[in-house]
Parts: sequence; structure tokens; C-alpha cells
Amino acid sequence: MIPYSRQQIEQSDIEAVVAVLKSDFLTQGQTVPRFEHAVAGYCDVAHAVATCNATAALHLACLALDVDENVIVWIAATSFVASANCARYCGAKVDFVDCDPESGLISLEALTKKLKTANSRDALPKVLIVVHLGGQSCDMQAIHELCKPYGIDIIEDACHALGGKYQGRPVGISHYSACTIFSFHPVKPITTAEGGMLLTSRKELADKARLIANHGIERERTRLLNSDRGAWYYEQQVLGYNYRLSDVHAALGLSQMSRLDDMCEQRAALARRYDELFSGTKVKPVTKQHASVSAWHLYPVLFPGKEQRNNAFTALRAHDFAVNIHYEPIPAQPYYQQLGFSMAEFPGARSYADRTLSLPLHAFVDRDMQSKIVDLCLA
Ligand SMILES: *Cc1c(COP(=O)(O)O)cnc(C)c1O
Repeated sequence: MIPYSRQQIEQSDIEAVVAVLKSDFLTQGQTVPRFEHAVAGYCDVAHAVATCNATAALHLACLALDVDENVIVWIAATSFVASANCARYCGAKVDFVDCDPESGLISLEALTKKLKTANSRDALPKVLIVVHLGGQSCDMQAIHELCKPYGIDIIEDACHALGGKYQGRPVGISHYSACTIFSFHPVKPITTAEGGMLLTSRKELADKARLIANHGIERERTRLLNSDRGAWYYEQQVLGYNYRLSDVHAALGLSQMSRLDDMCEQRAALARRYDELFSGTKVKPVTKQHASVSAWHLYPVLFPGKEQRNNAFTALRAHDFAVNIHYEPIPAQPYYQQLGFSMAEFPGARSYADRTLSLPLHAFVDRDMQSKIVDLCLA
């Protein structure tokens, strides 16, 4: 089977992991801070908190932004379910914003309308979670300008987009948002096996996320609430979790970071070839977002209709190409349907989900495979 995405592991990665295995610290050593530093440096942002996966980082982002049962959180309708579940973990009331049917990214038109209606009903969200689907950044400046008058905090779910750029700056800089979340699952731009990270330029947000990621325990003497009782003393100050990343995982991530740009460029070259092969046909690449350079986590195409998409899915799977659909809209999931969502409200996300297909895009895809994949799509 040729998957839609997969990890790329080299001897240097293996050696980096083995070196940590032979060292004194498998967790809570110096490799996690080094990995955080490397990603923060790449993204030109002040703070990074590594986590055991991106779902945990999304949960931390919500907690650090004081999401609880008294607030509303809006999420882009087209995403992986974790983008919305993180707000539900906090007990928040969630709602979705429809997506553009040609890009799968949050629709600015839908967001504008929804903000207006919510404002008149006094039902504005505290937080908006946007998703850089497939690796291309949403129009963050426009989203920021829409949300700013209402004081809405933005979380960028950038699980697909490490290595991407927006307005010439790295995704992760969090210039137009409260924070940005990356995933290091093996299908994502770089991997730690399981892992995630929260990036922010706001120190108080980073401190709070780090505290909650480590049981709510404070050891820093200057931040103790009680008087210092000695070097052994620590305090649990809030209810936290164990959301830490291990040094073994961080070693893999740190090693992979050195090849991030190369891996993105390799996928970009494959994407350009797909673009050429599909040009002038009935199958279209998704529209490219202005001012955004994709990290190319996915190569999604759009078919004229559901039937043609489903036929291509079946034909490609029959030839061992493990293509996939990203994503069935979150409000269409049974759990969210039970919360009362109607898909009539999300025609863009519905249309995108019915016509999209993610084609194989990784180092093990060659030109012959691409030609065969495109032929099967157009058959
Ligand atoms: C993969 C993914 C997540 C969850 O990441 P994990 O590291 O697997 O927890 C969240 N949101 C999006 C958009 C993703 O693709």
C-alpha cells in the first residue's frame, strides 16, 4: 500500500534516538527544551511548549485561554475532530464556521455573517479555532481583523502546516493569533511518533500551558504561593495533566527539524507535478490561498461531484494507493449530530467533503506513480 502520507526516517534520526536511550534522561532531560528551542527558532516565536500529542496541546491552549462551560468556542467545520474536541474537554459550548468549498479553509464570508448575527444575539465566542488545512495557512490577517473588535482569541490548528509560510513569515509565529499548534504524528510534516507543540509570543500563556502540562505543579522558587519550605518543596497550584513529551520522542523531532525545509521542498515539487498533470482536466487542485506557501502535508484534489470522487477512491484503493478523505465535516460526526448540529448550515464544508480526495504525497512517491495516480483519477 502507498499511503497518502508517511514518515521519512534516516540513519541520523535513528542515531539521535539511540543516543538519548543511552543517556541518563529518557524524559525531563535537556532534549525536550532543545527541541522546543529549535521549533521556536524556526518559527521566529518566543515560546514553545512540547506536548505528548497535538490534541493535548489544543486542550492546553483552550485551558490557558480560560475556556470553560461558560463560554462558546467556534471551530472551522472542515478538520480532524480533535480541533473541536479540545473545547468540549473544557465543557465549552461549541459551534462551527462553514468552509470555502474550493479550498476547505474557513470561509471569511461565513465568519463575517456569523459574527454579525452572534453579536446581535449576545452570543459571541471567546475563542475561534482555525485550521491550515493540507498545510496552507488561512488568511490570518483578515481573520484577525474580523475577530479583533470582539476580543476573540484565535488558536491556529497548524497540525498540517509546520514549514509553511504566510505573508513571508513562518506559520507558528502566531503574529495574528494567541497561539499555534503543531502535530508530530508520523503523517505530519515532521514526526516524533506521537507529539505536539504549542507556540505563542505571549509569555503568560506559555507559562500557564507549561504549568497545566505538568500536573499544575510549580517548582520555580519565585512563583511559589506558600513560603519556601526547602529545596524539596513544590506546589500543585491548579488542576493539571501529564501532557509532557519525552526526550526519546524529542530526539527524533530535533533530528527531523534539520531536514524540514528539504522535506517540504520535496513535497512541493511533487505537488507542482500533480498540478501540471491535472491542468486542463475535470479534476482540480484546491484553490491556493493568497500570501500562503503550503507545507504540503496533503495534496487534495476536487472532483466535479461525489460519484466521480467515490469512483476514483475505489479505483485508487484497488491499485494499492491508500488515498483518503480530509475531512468529513466535524458537525456531521454522530457525536456532534447528537449535540444538535444540522449540516444545512455548512454547505461549503459538505460540498468540499463530497468532492475531495487526498493523493499520495511523500518521499516514496515517484513520477511513474504520480502518472498512474492521475490516470486513475481521470479514468
Ligand atoms: C493530526 C491532527 C490533530 C491531532 O494531532 P495528534 O498529534 O494526533 O493529537 C489535530 N488537528 C488536525 C487538523 C490534525 O490533522
